Amino acid sequence: MTEFKDIQQDMRTMDLIIKPTEACNFSCTFCSSTYLVDDKKQSLHLEKVFEFLKRFPNTATIIVNGGDPTMMPVKYYWDIIAHLEENKYPARISITTNLWKFWLEWENDLPDKSWTKLFRHPRVHVGTSFQYGEGRQIRPGRVFTEEDFVKISTLMLEKVGYRPSFIAVIEKNNLHNAIDNVRLAKHLGVDCKLNYVNMSGECAEPLPLSYIYKVYVQIWKEGLADHEYNTRQMANRLVQTNTTTCPLHRKCDEGIRLLHPDGKYYSCGAFGDDREYEIDFEAEIKEKKFFTPLQDAIELDALKMECYSCPMFQICNGCRKHVKDIKTREMVEEHCQNMKAIADDIIAINQDGPSIEIRNDKYYEALV
Ligand code: SF4
Ligand code: SF4
Repeated sequence: MTEFKDIQQDMRTMDLIIKPTEACNFSCTFCSSTYLVDDKKQSLHLEKVFEFLKRFPNTATIIVNGGDPTMMPVKYYWDIIAHLEENKYPARISITTNLWKFWLEWENDLPDKSWTKLFRHPRVHVGTSFQYGEGRQIRPGRVFTEEDFVKISTLMLEKVGYRPSFIAVIEKNNLHNAIDNVRLAKHLGVDCKLNYVNMSGECAEPLPLSYIYKVYVQIWKEGLADHEYNTRQMANRLVQTNTTTCPLHRKCDEGIRLLHPDGKYYSCGAFGDDREYEIDFEAEIKEKKFFTPLQDAIELDALKMECYSCPMFQICNGCRKHVKDIKTREMVEEHCQNMKAIADDIIAINQDGPSIEIRNDKYYEALV
């Protein structure tokens, strides 16, 4: 465990990622939840969440990831809402789900539309995931298609009142059409976030950020930045000094925590999947200490010495998980060469960047 800083500042604003379960009803090829063994199918006790809220009552968002959150009984979320209301906590609940169970309750005309009722609650906001390619699969071999995605998005609009924004996971094999996801987001009038796949659990090879930054540059040049979150972050990153969000955070562990289904406690979802840089829950929650294990880890600070004098520092070293993955796989030079090829474009975009409007970003504020 890294050295702690004893800060008795209970009213700091935090976000909490919870993974109630790692179980999922989809079989995506890039996701470790697809390969879960039975002893990992446990669920997070709400008591842990309530203890966290007591320590950090000013928690802004409870971000519900998975697995798929709908693998839990819907009552689990009503219990969180009841606890928030009872204690007058302000937190909103942001749920990222494949929405398949929501779809089935209308498709099968189930009498109790329990997920629809939850999603209509004013504290709840729903986001989803989609990307072109073969990776997202409802069951092995049955790809979740654009047609599936659009019909569910439209059902959300009809029954809940809005189309959800979505995250697309980009790997080397779907990089070539990554921008099509943004075109789809524009067509639907929503926002998307192209996330690079990192190396977690049994997931695929990491994708050096330089590859996906080429796509962000293309998005910017096509005038699509209004519909892709990370492109907007990129456009401001070299000129603004304050913290942004993943994957350009740098101050990763200052405002966010993660609770795994087994109750283990981390400051980053991706490192949590690796079971690294764990935080002592008892010490932070009960003894009111505060830990910053990622910022304290010197080995995660930069890809190489040259970065400290490079104008691209904030972008290449924005995410400590990326630093770790790329170093571990000895991909630093590959990444660096690619990044230098697009550095002039990114620097030019940043000179225009601060004037762009960052819209619809609340949902993503702390997503990993
Ligand atoms: S372009 Fe190369 S030297 Fe510059 S910050 Fe990125 S990895 Fe480091
Ligand atoms: S994903 Fe990257 S930027 Fe986000 S908290 Fe983890 S290390 Fe930091």
